[in-house]
Amino acid sequence: MKNLLAIGLCLIGLTLFGQGEFQAFVHEQATQMEDKVIEWRRYLHEHPELSNREFETAAMVAKHLQALGMEVRTEVGLTGVVGILRGGKPGKTVALRADMDGLPVTERVDIPFASKVTTTFLGQETGVMHACGHDTHVAMLMGAAEILAGMKADVPGTVVFIFQPAEEGAPPGEEGGAELMVKEGVLKEPAVDAIFGIHINSKTPVGEVRFKPGGALAAVNRLVIRVKGKQTHGSTPWTGVDPVTVSAQIILGLQTIVSRQTELTKEAAVISIGKITGGVRSNIIPEEVEMIGTIRTLDPEMQREIHERIRRTVTHIAEASGATAEVEIEKGYPVTYNDPELTRAMGKTMQAVAGVDNVVLTRARTGAEDFSFYAEEIPGLFVFLGGMPAGQDPAEAAPHHTPDFYIDESGLQLGVELYTNFALDYLLLMND
Ligand SMILES: [Zn+2]
Ligand SMILES: [Zn+2]
Repeated sequence: MKNLLAIGLCLIGLTLFGQGEFQAFVHEQATQMEDKVIEWRRYLHEHPELSNREFETAAMVAKHLQALGMEVRTEVGLTGVVGILRGGKPGKTVALRADMDGLPVTERVDIPFASKVTTTFLGQETGVMHACGHDTHVAMLMGAAEILAGMKADVPGTVVFIFQPAEEGAPPGEEGGAELMVKEGVLKEPAVDAIFGIHINSKTPVGEVRFKPGGALAAVNRLVIRVKGKQTHGSTPWTGVDPVTVSAQIILGLQTIVSRQTELTKEAAVISIGKITGGVRSNIIPEEVEMIGTIRTLDPEMQREIHERIRRTVTHIAEASGATAEVEIEKGYPVTYNDPELTRAMGKTMQAVAGVDNVVLTRARTGAEDFSFYAEEIPGLFVFLGGMPAGQDPAEAAPHHTPDFYIDESGLQLGVELYTNFALDYLLLMND
């Protein structure tokens, strides 16, 4: 991987193939296919399914991939679908990933294909909506699969199409998403050398591609802290140990980990306590207080350090008052890490496909993505694609996961071309 770009440049000189070899052809194919991709997207949008329940979506994808003559595996990671396209020429193996799940959100957008689907989620009646744009991901990757299958004889290697369930998180008590697909061997047989993912964005103008090398999206770890004191009468705190005041000190102590002990010029970090519970009435100092929160980090080393500092800070603050504290940091999602070499090599591809001015280096985000589980195993690149109508003010565009979330479909063709060219250019660059 180290000299990917150099190898690529050398190959352009030495062989008939080179990065960008097929761009014009792919553009023509994607243009012809635009209406069809939009049609798929509208069908999916009108028929959203929740995480780990993507049965109809998976069936539609599997049928499409089978019709393209691919080897298709279903029920990978519960409802996931994997298509394997073995090209006519030898080479490496590259994967393209789309996530398939919708969200328990009731759609409020006035479009003819708005979702009217309702369900019961964790005991609550709710609408179901593709409020994160995963419908566009599925449609775009179906388009890329069709183009690549059509040029199979010229593909120098193997392309694995990963249609993944439950990116938004499996229901409580269930496994799912990228982690489960990786566990079930989606990156083995054939062994995948690199992976690409695209996320549509409602606040990025149509036509733009945004990316960041290194940590692009945060690692998320759920935090549970239990402070144990000694229960007593509220009028005589000295006869017990008060876990409420200890918890207050802990919350402030956690914030000084970020502000005083973290190298913030390297990457951002966030610790938030979202819930605190303890006690029953005004004049009883309770036995125990529980706090839950979230930790966001963008660098694996900083993540380890911050977790260690949290443990140290919490237990020592508790100890200082004669209380004890338990800290539980759950596994969560890793940092979504864009391999620097791969990102650099694909910069040229993005610029050629979207236009130089439309490829924007962006800042890291403290949101998380389970694409990180693939990128933890093999070099990966995850980019954001414009889905906001041209000329709209991003501040006015509805955020993801909200009832007014809206995607301008004219951005999809670029996504189809990006997926296709990422695969082709990677295989061409790595060809030897
Ligand atoms: Zn989402
Ligand atoms: Zn999403």
